[in-house]
Amino acid sequence: MKKRLASFLIFALLFSITLSAQQKPKFGLILHGGAGSIKKGSLTPKQEEDYTKMLNECLQIGYKILEEGKPALDAVEAVINHMEDSPLFNAGKGAVLTSDGVVELDAAVMNGANLAAGAVAGVHHIKNPISLARLVMEKSKHVMLISDGAERFAKENNTPLVDQEYFIIPARLEALKRIKAREEEEKKGKTVTSVSYWEDTKRGTVGVAALDVNGNLAAGTSTGGVMNKKYGRVGDSPIIGAGTYANNKTCAVSATGTGEYFIRLSVTKDISSLMEYKGMSLKDAADEVIMKKLGELGGDGGIIAIDKEGNIAWPFNTDGMFRGYYLQGGQPVVKMYKD
Ligand code: ASP
Repeated sequence: MKKRLASFLIFALLFSITLSAQQKPKFGLILHGGAGSIKKGSLTPKQEEDYTKMLNECLQIGYKILEEGKPALDAVEAVINHMEDSPLFNAGKGAVLTSDGVVELDAAVMNGANLAAGAVAGVHHIKNPISLARLVMEKSKHVMLISDGAERFAKENNTPLVDQEYFIIPARLEALKRIKAREEEEKKGKTVTSVSYWEDTKRGTVGVAALDVNGNLAAGTSTGGVMNKKYGRVGDSPIIGAGTYANNKTCAVSATGTGEYFIRLSVTKDISSLMEYKGMSLKDAADEVIMKKLGELGGDGGIIAIDKEGNIAWPFNTDGMFRGYYLQGGQPVVKMYKD
């Protein structure tokens, strides 16, 4: 009788181990295309369709790379390149404008395997800032290069430079005009309520976090920052530990939202540290920082993250966030509004 019970218990144990091993995805990615006032009705059916199609395309690109056994870093870079090339997002082509009416781009990438990181800030002529950030990580002794220096480094490394005209799209010019007109009205003491999506939101930053078959994590973020920003303003996205972080011991995270608050809270490193030092799960750590700390300080936005086990989290305290994930053995999932 005892023997039978013991063999039943061993069988049950082996069965549950096999089951949980099967359930854990070996690789996968999660991404965002910015958080903000993205509510039902604020996007036209056409915009909804365009974003859904685009986010799905991005998931397929990343998944394919990971499925081929390539590094998480490759997936992060390729997906962000695709988003930077699309005018739908506030990164690369279609980025928001500074108060002087120019595009100033920031990006960062981090390799969770060795904590290597690269970033660029305030660049004006780099078509794909995330690729330049990776180049800084791999081909320089530094972590961050800014503005003209970053562009000099790009030239020395044969990275193609483009004119400002490449980035600027009419919708952003109109939005800047409207924001400036609204500022004038507000100066005169009038309260002006905003109406359209383009006018209201300053968001659209892009970010990806990925886990590869070798258990390596990587994260990247690329952005034009916030609309109407002051010359030289740098947000959280290119700051390691604020908008971007990856560590194989814990998780890979990319943030989007009011950058100044994300910098002050070191949001992405804080999530990783809560996991590392307090043993918190990814979900609990991410909720603690985004749903509690960020809101308490007055910031808004969200993060997307994946941990070494393939668990994911995407808390945000805004109306919506363009987001999606695709994990091995599952189906691609894309969302934009609150559940
Ligand atoms: N976090 C970005 C910044 O502050 C903007 C955004 O994510 O919408 O530059």
